[in-house]
Amino acid sequence: MISVQDGQNQILRQLAEPTPPEVVAVTRARDRVLAEDLPAPFDVPPADNSAVDGYAVASDDVPAANTRELAVIAELAAGTVFAGTVASGQTVRIMTGAPMPRGADTVYPQEVVERHADRLKVGSISKGANVRKRGEDVQAGTIAIERGTVLRPQELGLITSLGQWQVLVHRRPRVALLSTGDEVVEPGTPRKPGQIYDANRFTLRGSVEQCGGEVIDLGIVADARDELRTRLLEAAEIGDIVVTSGGVSVGAHDLVKDVLGEIGAIDFWQVAMQPGRPLAFGRIGSAHFFGLPGNPVASMLAFMLFVRPALYKLAGRRRLFPEMAEATAVETMSKKKGRREFKRGVVRWKNGRWEARTTGPQGSGILSSMAAGNCLIVLEEERGDVAVGETVLVEPFE
Ligand code: AMP
Ligand code: MG
Repeated sequence: MISVQDGQNQILRQLAEPTPPEVVAVTRARDRVLAEDLPAPFDVPPADNSAVDGYAVASDDVPAANTRELAVIAELAAGTVFAGTVASGQTVRIMTGAPMPRGADTVYPQEVVERHADRLKVGSISKGANVRKRGEDVQAGTIAIERGTVLRPQELGLITSLGQWQVLVHRRPRVALLSTGDEVVEPGTPRKPGQIYDANRFTLRGSVEQCGGEVIDLGIVADARDELRTRLLEAAEIGDIVVTSGGVSVGAHDLVKDVLGEIGAIDFWQVAMQPGRPLAFGRIGSAHFFGLPGNPVASMLAFMLFVRPALYKLAGRRRLFPEMAEATAVETMSKKKGRREFKRGVVRWKNGRWEARTTGPQGSGILSSMAAGNCLIVLEEERGDVAVGETVLVEPFE
């Protein structure tokens, strides 16, 4: 038996190099992983500019008390630069985003002044008010975005604000998926007595896509040695990662172990966790291999715990594990010491705190427990039964 954490570490140690970089247009780069640090070639904003529609003045002209009159000498729209200099006693009408005219360092919002023809009456205002400083967003030469960052909409805008329309990202890791089992049939085809429709390949498919991987769907393989061998070798040719479900426990038709012993270097682990103990991990050719359990909850959970961080590392991501939060248990939860247990839970904000309950029956074949939940409740190894009011860790679903 190995612990969840030892298993994760052992897997991550096997993954050295991330996938190679490729150039993509920013318009196609959402959710991709930046493959190089992105330095700013210039200051953003490139010049001091007005934060409001109003009047630019020299702060020396701002009266300490009462009011004074200034002469409006020009109008300055965003996108234009004032050629002259604002002298003492003068002001320039300025629009939001227009560069500050030479000689001016403070802007009055138009709502606080009185204008009559070319005369402007102003009161007191603090020096430098309503001016956005050159480089206050990003300074030239600094790293605007670090490599390994997943590009969200805000990063995309930051990149284009630096004038770039292309970006270097890691190639999406390719994940070949296979379901195993004589009883497993394709949805949309007739089902005979004793057969079940494939669930795992579709939860795994969605999981891979959610993690930024590219799915190669290789369908269902029967519990037949030769077929399994051929299909796994084929999968390893095209995938960076091969993921199967089923066939890794100790049943008479659990052939994955035997076949992998012939074609790859694979370890079989009993992981001290609930649900989903059996797990196979290793290599077939140049591909990393994960043999996940057949039970639908167990296979999805094993994906989250073991495949996802590996996929993230291969994709070049900096953060491999999700953020956890603390919540108060509002029901008792049974827990065996010595293993990590994952309950499917519902966490919600109530009475000024996060409250967690389970989704009900927790059997590892009950996939609807995943569908009803919005988080995993993570109960650590050393912990026993959980009483109402205790604090538990929760990992929100993506
Ligand atoms: P196994 O590890 O192959 O013995 O499978 C364990 C349990 O998971 C059995 O009840 C299988 O029928 C079920 N199972 C295996 N593969 C799938 C699948 N792709 N979709 C849904 N259930 C599955
Ligand atoms: Mg099976």
